[in-house]
Formats: sequence, structure tokens, C-alpha cells
Amino acid sequence: MIPIHLKWQRDVAGYRVAPAGQHGESIVRNGGDLVPCDPTTGNDMLYAEFAGLKTGQQLLKFVNRHGLLNNAAGHSIGQTYDGNFGDGSFRPKDDGYDGELVRDHLEAARLIRQVLKAENSGKKSIPIEDCRTLAGILDDDEVGHIRLAPRGKRGFQFIFEASSLLGAIWIQLAQRTGGGIKWGECRYCGSWFEMGPGTGKRTDSEFCKTSHRVAFHRKHGG
Ligand SMILES: [Zn+2]
Repeated sequence: MIPIHLKWQRDVAGYRVAPAGQHGESIVRNGGDLVPCDPTTGNDMLYAEFAGLKTGQQLLKFVNRHGLLNNAAGHSIGQTYDGNFGDGSFRPKDDGYDGELVRDHLEAARLIRQVLKAENSGKKSIPIEDCRTLAGILDDDEVGHIRLAPRGKRGFQFIFEASSLLGAIWIQLAQRTGGGIKWGECRYCGSWFEMGPGTGKRTDSEFCKTSHRVAFHRKHGG
């Protein structure tokens, strides 16, 4: 597999969920310093962790660990405009919002789950509406590009330079699908995990890791 690199940043003060008017809620920075991070190095399973997100609070935990998904600096990109520039009709369509919309990211997580479920069932199809949405997202956003990186004195290797954290997640997903891997949903933490040949996990596994199996049975008195 081609390694994925991502030059990313995290707010040391963390993030919070904030109201975003008609858009619902968004995840915003708490306004600390941005420190460099690379959430993808040593973590091939970021896409599967992301796939498990179903609520704003779960998304917030993910962002607190890895940073925002689209724009690490968290600039407001929510402002859209109506009317024609220069004739007085030009005005903000709404109040805009800061940060990144919760509903957009939860929709992306749901789409990834649809892809994993389609792979699990052996059918290469997902609902047509989801297919359109997915194609739309991947058409609009550049997920990254392949680059040659030096290795040793005269060597080189290919790397995937992701353009954003969400881009890195799409690349990870693309690398893992189509190869006969199956996915399970952890009964303890809700994260998805790989199972089947080559993954070291049986296809009837119910937990993403042993410690979660132990924790689940402790919690349920088993
Ligand atoms: Zn788990």
C-alpha cells in the first residue's frame, strides 16, 4: 500500500460544538495555538474509526483527537451569498457559520458505512441517492495527490499526500475496498474494524480489539 502523508494541525485548546443557525451545529476551535500533527501515520484504521461516528458528541471526540476534517485552521467557509455583485442585491444568504458542520461529517461517515456494508454483502452497489452524494463529494473535493519522496541516498518511494484529514480518510477507504476484506462494527465502541483473510481477525469477530471485548463483558456482567 502507498503510505499516506498528511501535514495537519490541531488546536491545543481543543474544540467544541456550537450552534450554526439553520445549518444545525458546527465544530469550532477553542482558539488555542495550532500544533502540527499527522493523524494518519501509524493509523491505517482512521477511516474505520470515522465510519463509526453517529452523533455530534462522537464527532467532537474524534476532532479533539485528530483535528478538524476539512480545514485545520477552522476558517469560516459557511458564508454564501445571494444576488448580483454591484447592484445592491448582493447580500449574505444567511448568517454563515464558523468551523465545520456536524451534519456534513456525519453524512460522510454514513456514506462510508454504506460502502463497507456493500463490500460486506459482496454487492458492488449502494443506494442510488447515496451513490450520487458520494460521487458529488469526491468530484468537488481534491482528496490528494501522489508524490515521489526520496528514500535513503538514491532511493525513492511513492507517497500519497492527502489534502485534508477527510481526504486521507477517503484515500484509506479506497485502498482497503475491493480486496475481499470484511468489516464489523465493534459492540463496545461502535468503531468499524477489518476482519477476514489477512487481517488477523475472524469474520465472526464482534469487537475491534481484545480490550474492548473485555470491557464489554465487564460492563454487562459477563
Ligand atoms: Zn471497539
